Amino acid sequence: MVRVRFAPSPTGYLHIGSARTALFNWMYARAQGGKFILRIEDTDKGRSKNEFLDEILDSMKWLGLSWDECYKQSDRFDIYRKYAQKLLDEGKAYKDGEAVLLKVPQKQIKIYDLIRDEIVVDTKEIKDQVLMKSDGSPTYSFACVIDDALMEISCVIRGEDHISNTPKQIVIYEALGLKPPKFAHLPLILDDERARMSKRAGAVAVSEYRRQGFLPQAIVNYLMLLGWSPGNNQEKITLSAAIKNFSIKRINKAGAVFSLDKLRWLNGQYIKETDTANLTALLIPFLKEKYPTASLLDGKKLENIVQLFKGRMTTLMDFLEWTDFIFADQAQFDPEAKQKHLSQDRSKDFALLVQALEGVQDFNVKTVEEAFRRIVEQLGIPAGELVHPVRVALTGRAVGPGLFDTMAVLGKEKTVQRLKTVFK
Ligand code: GLU
Repeated sequence: MVRVRFAPSPTGYLHIGSARTALFNWMYARAQGGKFILRIEDTDKGRSKNEFLDEILDSMKWLGLSWDECYKQSDRFDIYRKYAQKLLDEGKAYKDGEAVLLKVPQKQIKIYDLIRDEIVVDTKEIKDQVLMKSDGSPTYSFACVIDDALMEISCVIRGEDHISNTPKQIVIYEALGLKPPKFAHLPLILDDERARMSKRAGAVAVSEYRRQGFLPQAIVNYLMLLGWSPGNNQEKITLSAAIKNFSIKRINKAGAVFSLDKLRWLNGQYIKETDTANLTALLIPFLKEKYPTASLLDGKKLENIVQLFKGRMTTLMDFLEWTDFIFADQAQFDPEAKQKHLSQDRSKDFALLVQALEGVQDFNVKTVEEAFRRIVEQLGIPAGELVHPVRVALTGRAVGPGLFDTMAVLGKEKTVQRLKTVFK
């Protein structure tokens, strides 16, 4: 029976690298019909915070990494104490003040790692290990070994940063007479300078990506590709397809370079394939945060706006940025667009257009286009000559969705009012 675990310490937010560790464990469990266990490693009372725990659980749920069992190490201190006492009774451990230390025997230790094959370590390099600290709490390695054994973990899949802990943990397994699990140490996630992933390469907390308007499917898809590949250069892959294909053997040894550009590209792909009503529902909390007092238009109207922008969004935030002219009272002018398209006084042309638009009864894409075309014909100018200034006057930007769509979405009142005031 495959039993794997993800063991976050609630001493910080869920790091993108830890999320990948969780994901690989989860995929392995699901691929093998095994169990995925969540173990909260909160033995450090000073540094563990509920706020971090809540955020970690929330981020995991958001990513869809459901767990089958959950344990908290702070509930298990009696168990660790019992095993420390056993080792003391057997003369394998000794006390130093209140702390309990393991006598480390001199020998060679072999670790079988599914990703890096065999690793041999001489215990000469390992000092006697603290098992219980003087404050009565277990050390990470001691609690980890006892729990991995009692929870019958078949394979420990974790970040390569823990590789140096593994021989120390093997020594503890051996002292306790317990059988070690298999190990698979995942390559590190590197930034574009091949240093360990830091804020410079992109946000590090999963919740930060969520706030920036990434979709969980895109994050999961992207994390899957960091160090693993489905085998045919495929980049966009669903979780269910990946599970079918998943094998630890196909995980790379080399560090995986994080690319925010690729994540953004994938996110855009997932946004495009999200049904507009669902995408609108995802956008509403962002809109409410940005415009707490704005009335959010009725559902259908908002969906029309979302539909207009959907094809070019890479994050949900793009929508907020590009639609400020709709939700805010005033358009924010991009200075360059203003300089390019509004430096020539077109108040006479605009006045004519306003007159035509005011006469439009049913203000929609078709009727505003008719009015617009009539005016450029009357002025004897190509449509393009008026399109750009009008777009900048209405939206503040030189690029955006089609002009008539923009006008229809904005509505008659705002359209007319902006065209009337822009040259004042
Ligand atoms: N609590 C450890 C961490 O967050 C877990 C390490 C392990 O998986 O053994 O890094």
